[in-house]
Amino acid sequence: MSDLNYDVVIIGAGMVGATTASLLSRSGFTVALVEAHKPQEFDSDADVGLRVSAISPGSAAVLEQAGVWKAISAQRVRPYRRMQVEDGIDSEPLLFDAPAFNLERLGTIVENSLTQWSLWQLVSNTGLVDCYCPDRLKAIEFDDTHNRVLLNSDKMLTATLVIGADGARSRVRKAIGVRQDYWAYNQQGLVAVVGKQKPNPGVAWQRFMPGGPLAFLPLEDGRSSIVWTRPSIEAERLLALDTDEFCSELSIASSGWLGEVESCGPRAAFPLSMRLSECYAAQRTVLIGDAAHTVHPLAGQGVNLGFADAAGLTESLIRARHAGGDIGSAKVLQSYSVSRRSESETMAFGMHSLRSLFDIEALSVVRQAGFAVVRRSWTLKDMFLQRAAGVAGNAPRLAKGASLQELMRS
Ligand SMILES: Cc1cc2nc3c(=O)[nH]c(=O)nc-3n(C[C@H](O)[C@H](O)[C@H](O)COP(=O)(O)OP(=O)(O)OC[C@H]3O[C@@H](n4cnc5c(N)ncnc54)[C@H](O)[C@@H]3O)c2cc1C
Repeated sequence: MSDLNYDVVIIGAGMVGATTASLLSRSGFTVALVEAHKPQEFDSDADVGLRVSAISPGSAAVLEQAGVWKAISAQRVRPYRRMQVEDGIDSEPLLFDAPAFNLERLGTIVENSLTQWSLWQLVSNTGLVDCYCPDRLKAIEFDDTHNRVLLNSDKMLTATLVIGADGARSRVRKAIGVRQDYWAYNQQGLVAVVGKQKPNPGVAWQRFMPGGPLAFLPLEDGRSSIVWTRPSIEAERLLALDTDEFCSELSIASSGWLGEVESCGPRAAFPLSMRLSECYAAQRTVLIGDAAHTVHPLAGQGVNLGFADAAGLTESLIRARHAGGDIGSAKVLQSYSVSRRSESETMAFGMHSLRSLFDIEALSVVRQAGFAVVRRSWTLKDMFLQRAAGVAGNAPRLAKGASLQELMRS
């Protein structure tokens, strides 16, 4: 089918795939985006959604270049300037304040549905991206110079490069035969929107406890969105409690911070796992976002890693085109794969180790000593924050504030 040829075909219009579609189309590539389900329209009159993300400053810079951050930040979002981490024993909390690290903010809490809908409107309305939705990837046929992407609708798209942004159970990853390491944590992340006696003053608060951390992320109206990591059986029990019982257990778990829990909306829980693909590219195809990796949500880094993948890949493809190269060549994709895999491996194993450290009661002395060291060390705090903010030395240039125009000129 001669009229369905693209530079890039992206499978999956989640937050990461849609961002990549926008970045690449704004850089002059022809882009097709295939998505199984159209995202739900964001309704600002409805209550805050259950799924929110802490968007790092680096990710906000990437979303700005994708042309969507202005629309997102004009809605109900909550920037935060302080992070408070407690070790669940009785030692002093670790405090991270944005101004102390020359940052305007540490991050912004945004509902996933707002990000998804804003991106979808952008890519489907500007005419820059051809959207195939609802439709699904059926199969990929690989070739030396291009791949053929067959959809459930029987449409056939031809692409110089295929991008798998189709989430943790990626069909694209299976199609290219990339192996993945997988750890099921036997834990679930319980999420809900809750109100305490005192409003959240704009602090991302986290307490590490045996069984998993509890996080309160600030919302625009003074309530908090919680992620409470519990062993699966315990998460099921917490889900089954009535609202008053749940509020009282949550008050105990978060005692000493902003008073009692007074209100709680619907609750849901998500099984947690770590997945790391052995490489992110093969046969004119790359993996980005959860299709390539999933990490424990204790540092809220999952989608931030995905936005950095989107930025890193865009930079590699712009460079390749400048050099007159083939954007689907093994050399180009290898450089993306090596740099991004190393970054997500560091993050995934960092979260893995931190999780284990807090899970084992016998290690409480080690934990306290570690807290004391980090509390006193500006260097360690700075290293930690730069990475969490997505602007550390090895972050993509787009995350550090470069524009697409600058990349296309250089
Ligand atoms: C409890 C919890 C809390 C979290 N909190 C944070 C946080 O604070 N900060 C953070 O950075 N991350 C957080 N994360 C992680 C974050 O939610 C994920 O990393 C992110 O949603 C992944 O986005 P994605 O676009 O890569 O994949 P997905 O959101 O999974 O999108 C994949 C898309 O592909 C589509 N698709 C799948 N298969 C096909 C197919 N065959 N054909 C066509 N389309 C297809 C799907 O419909 C979907 O739209 C959290 C995760 C959990 C579980």
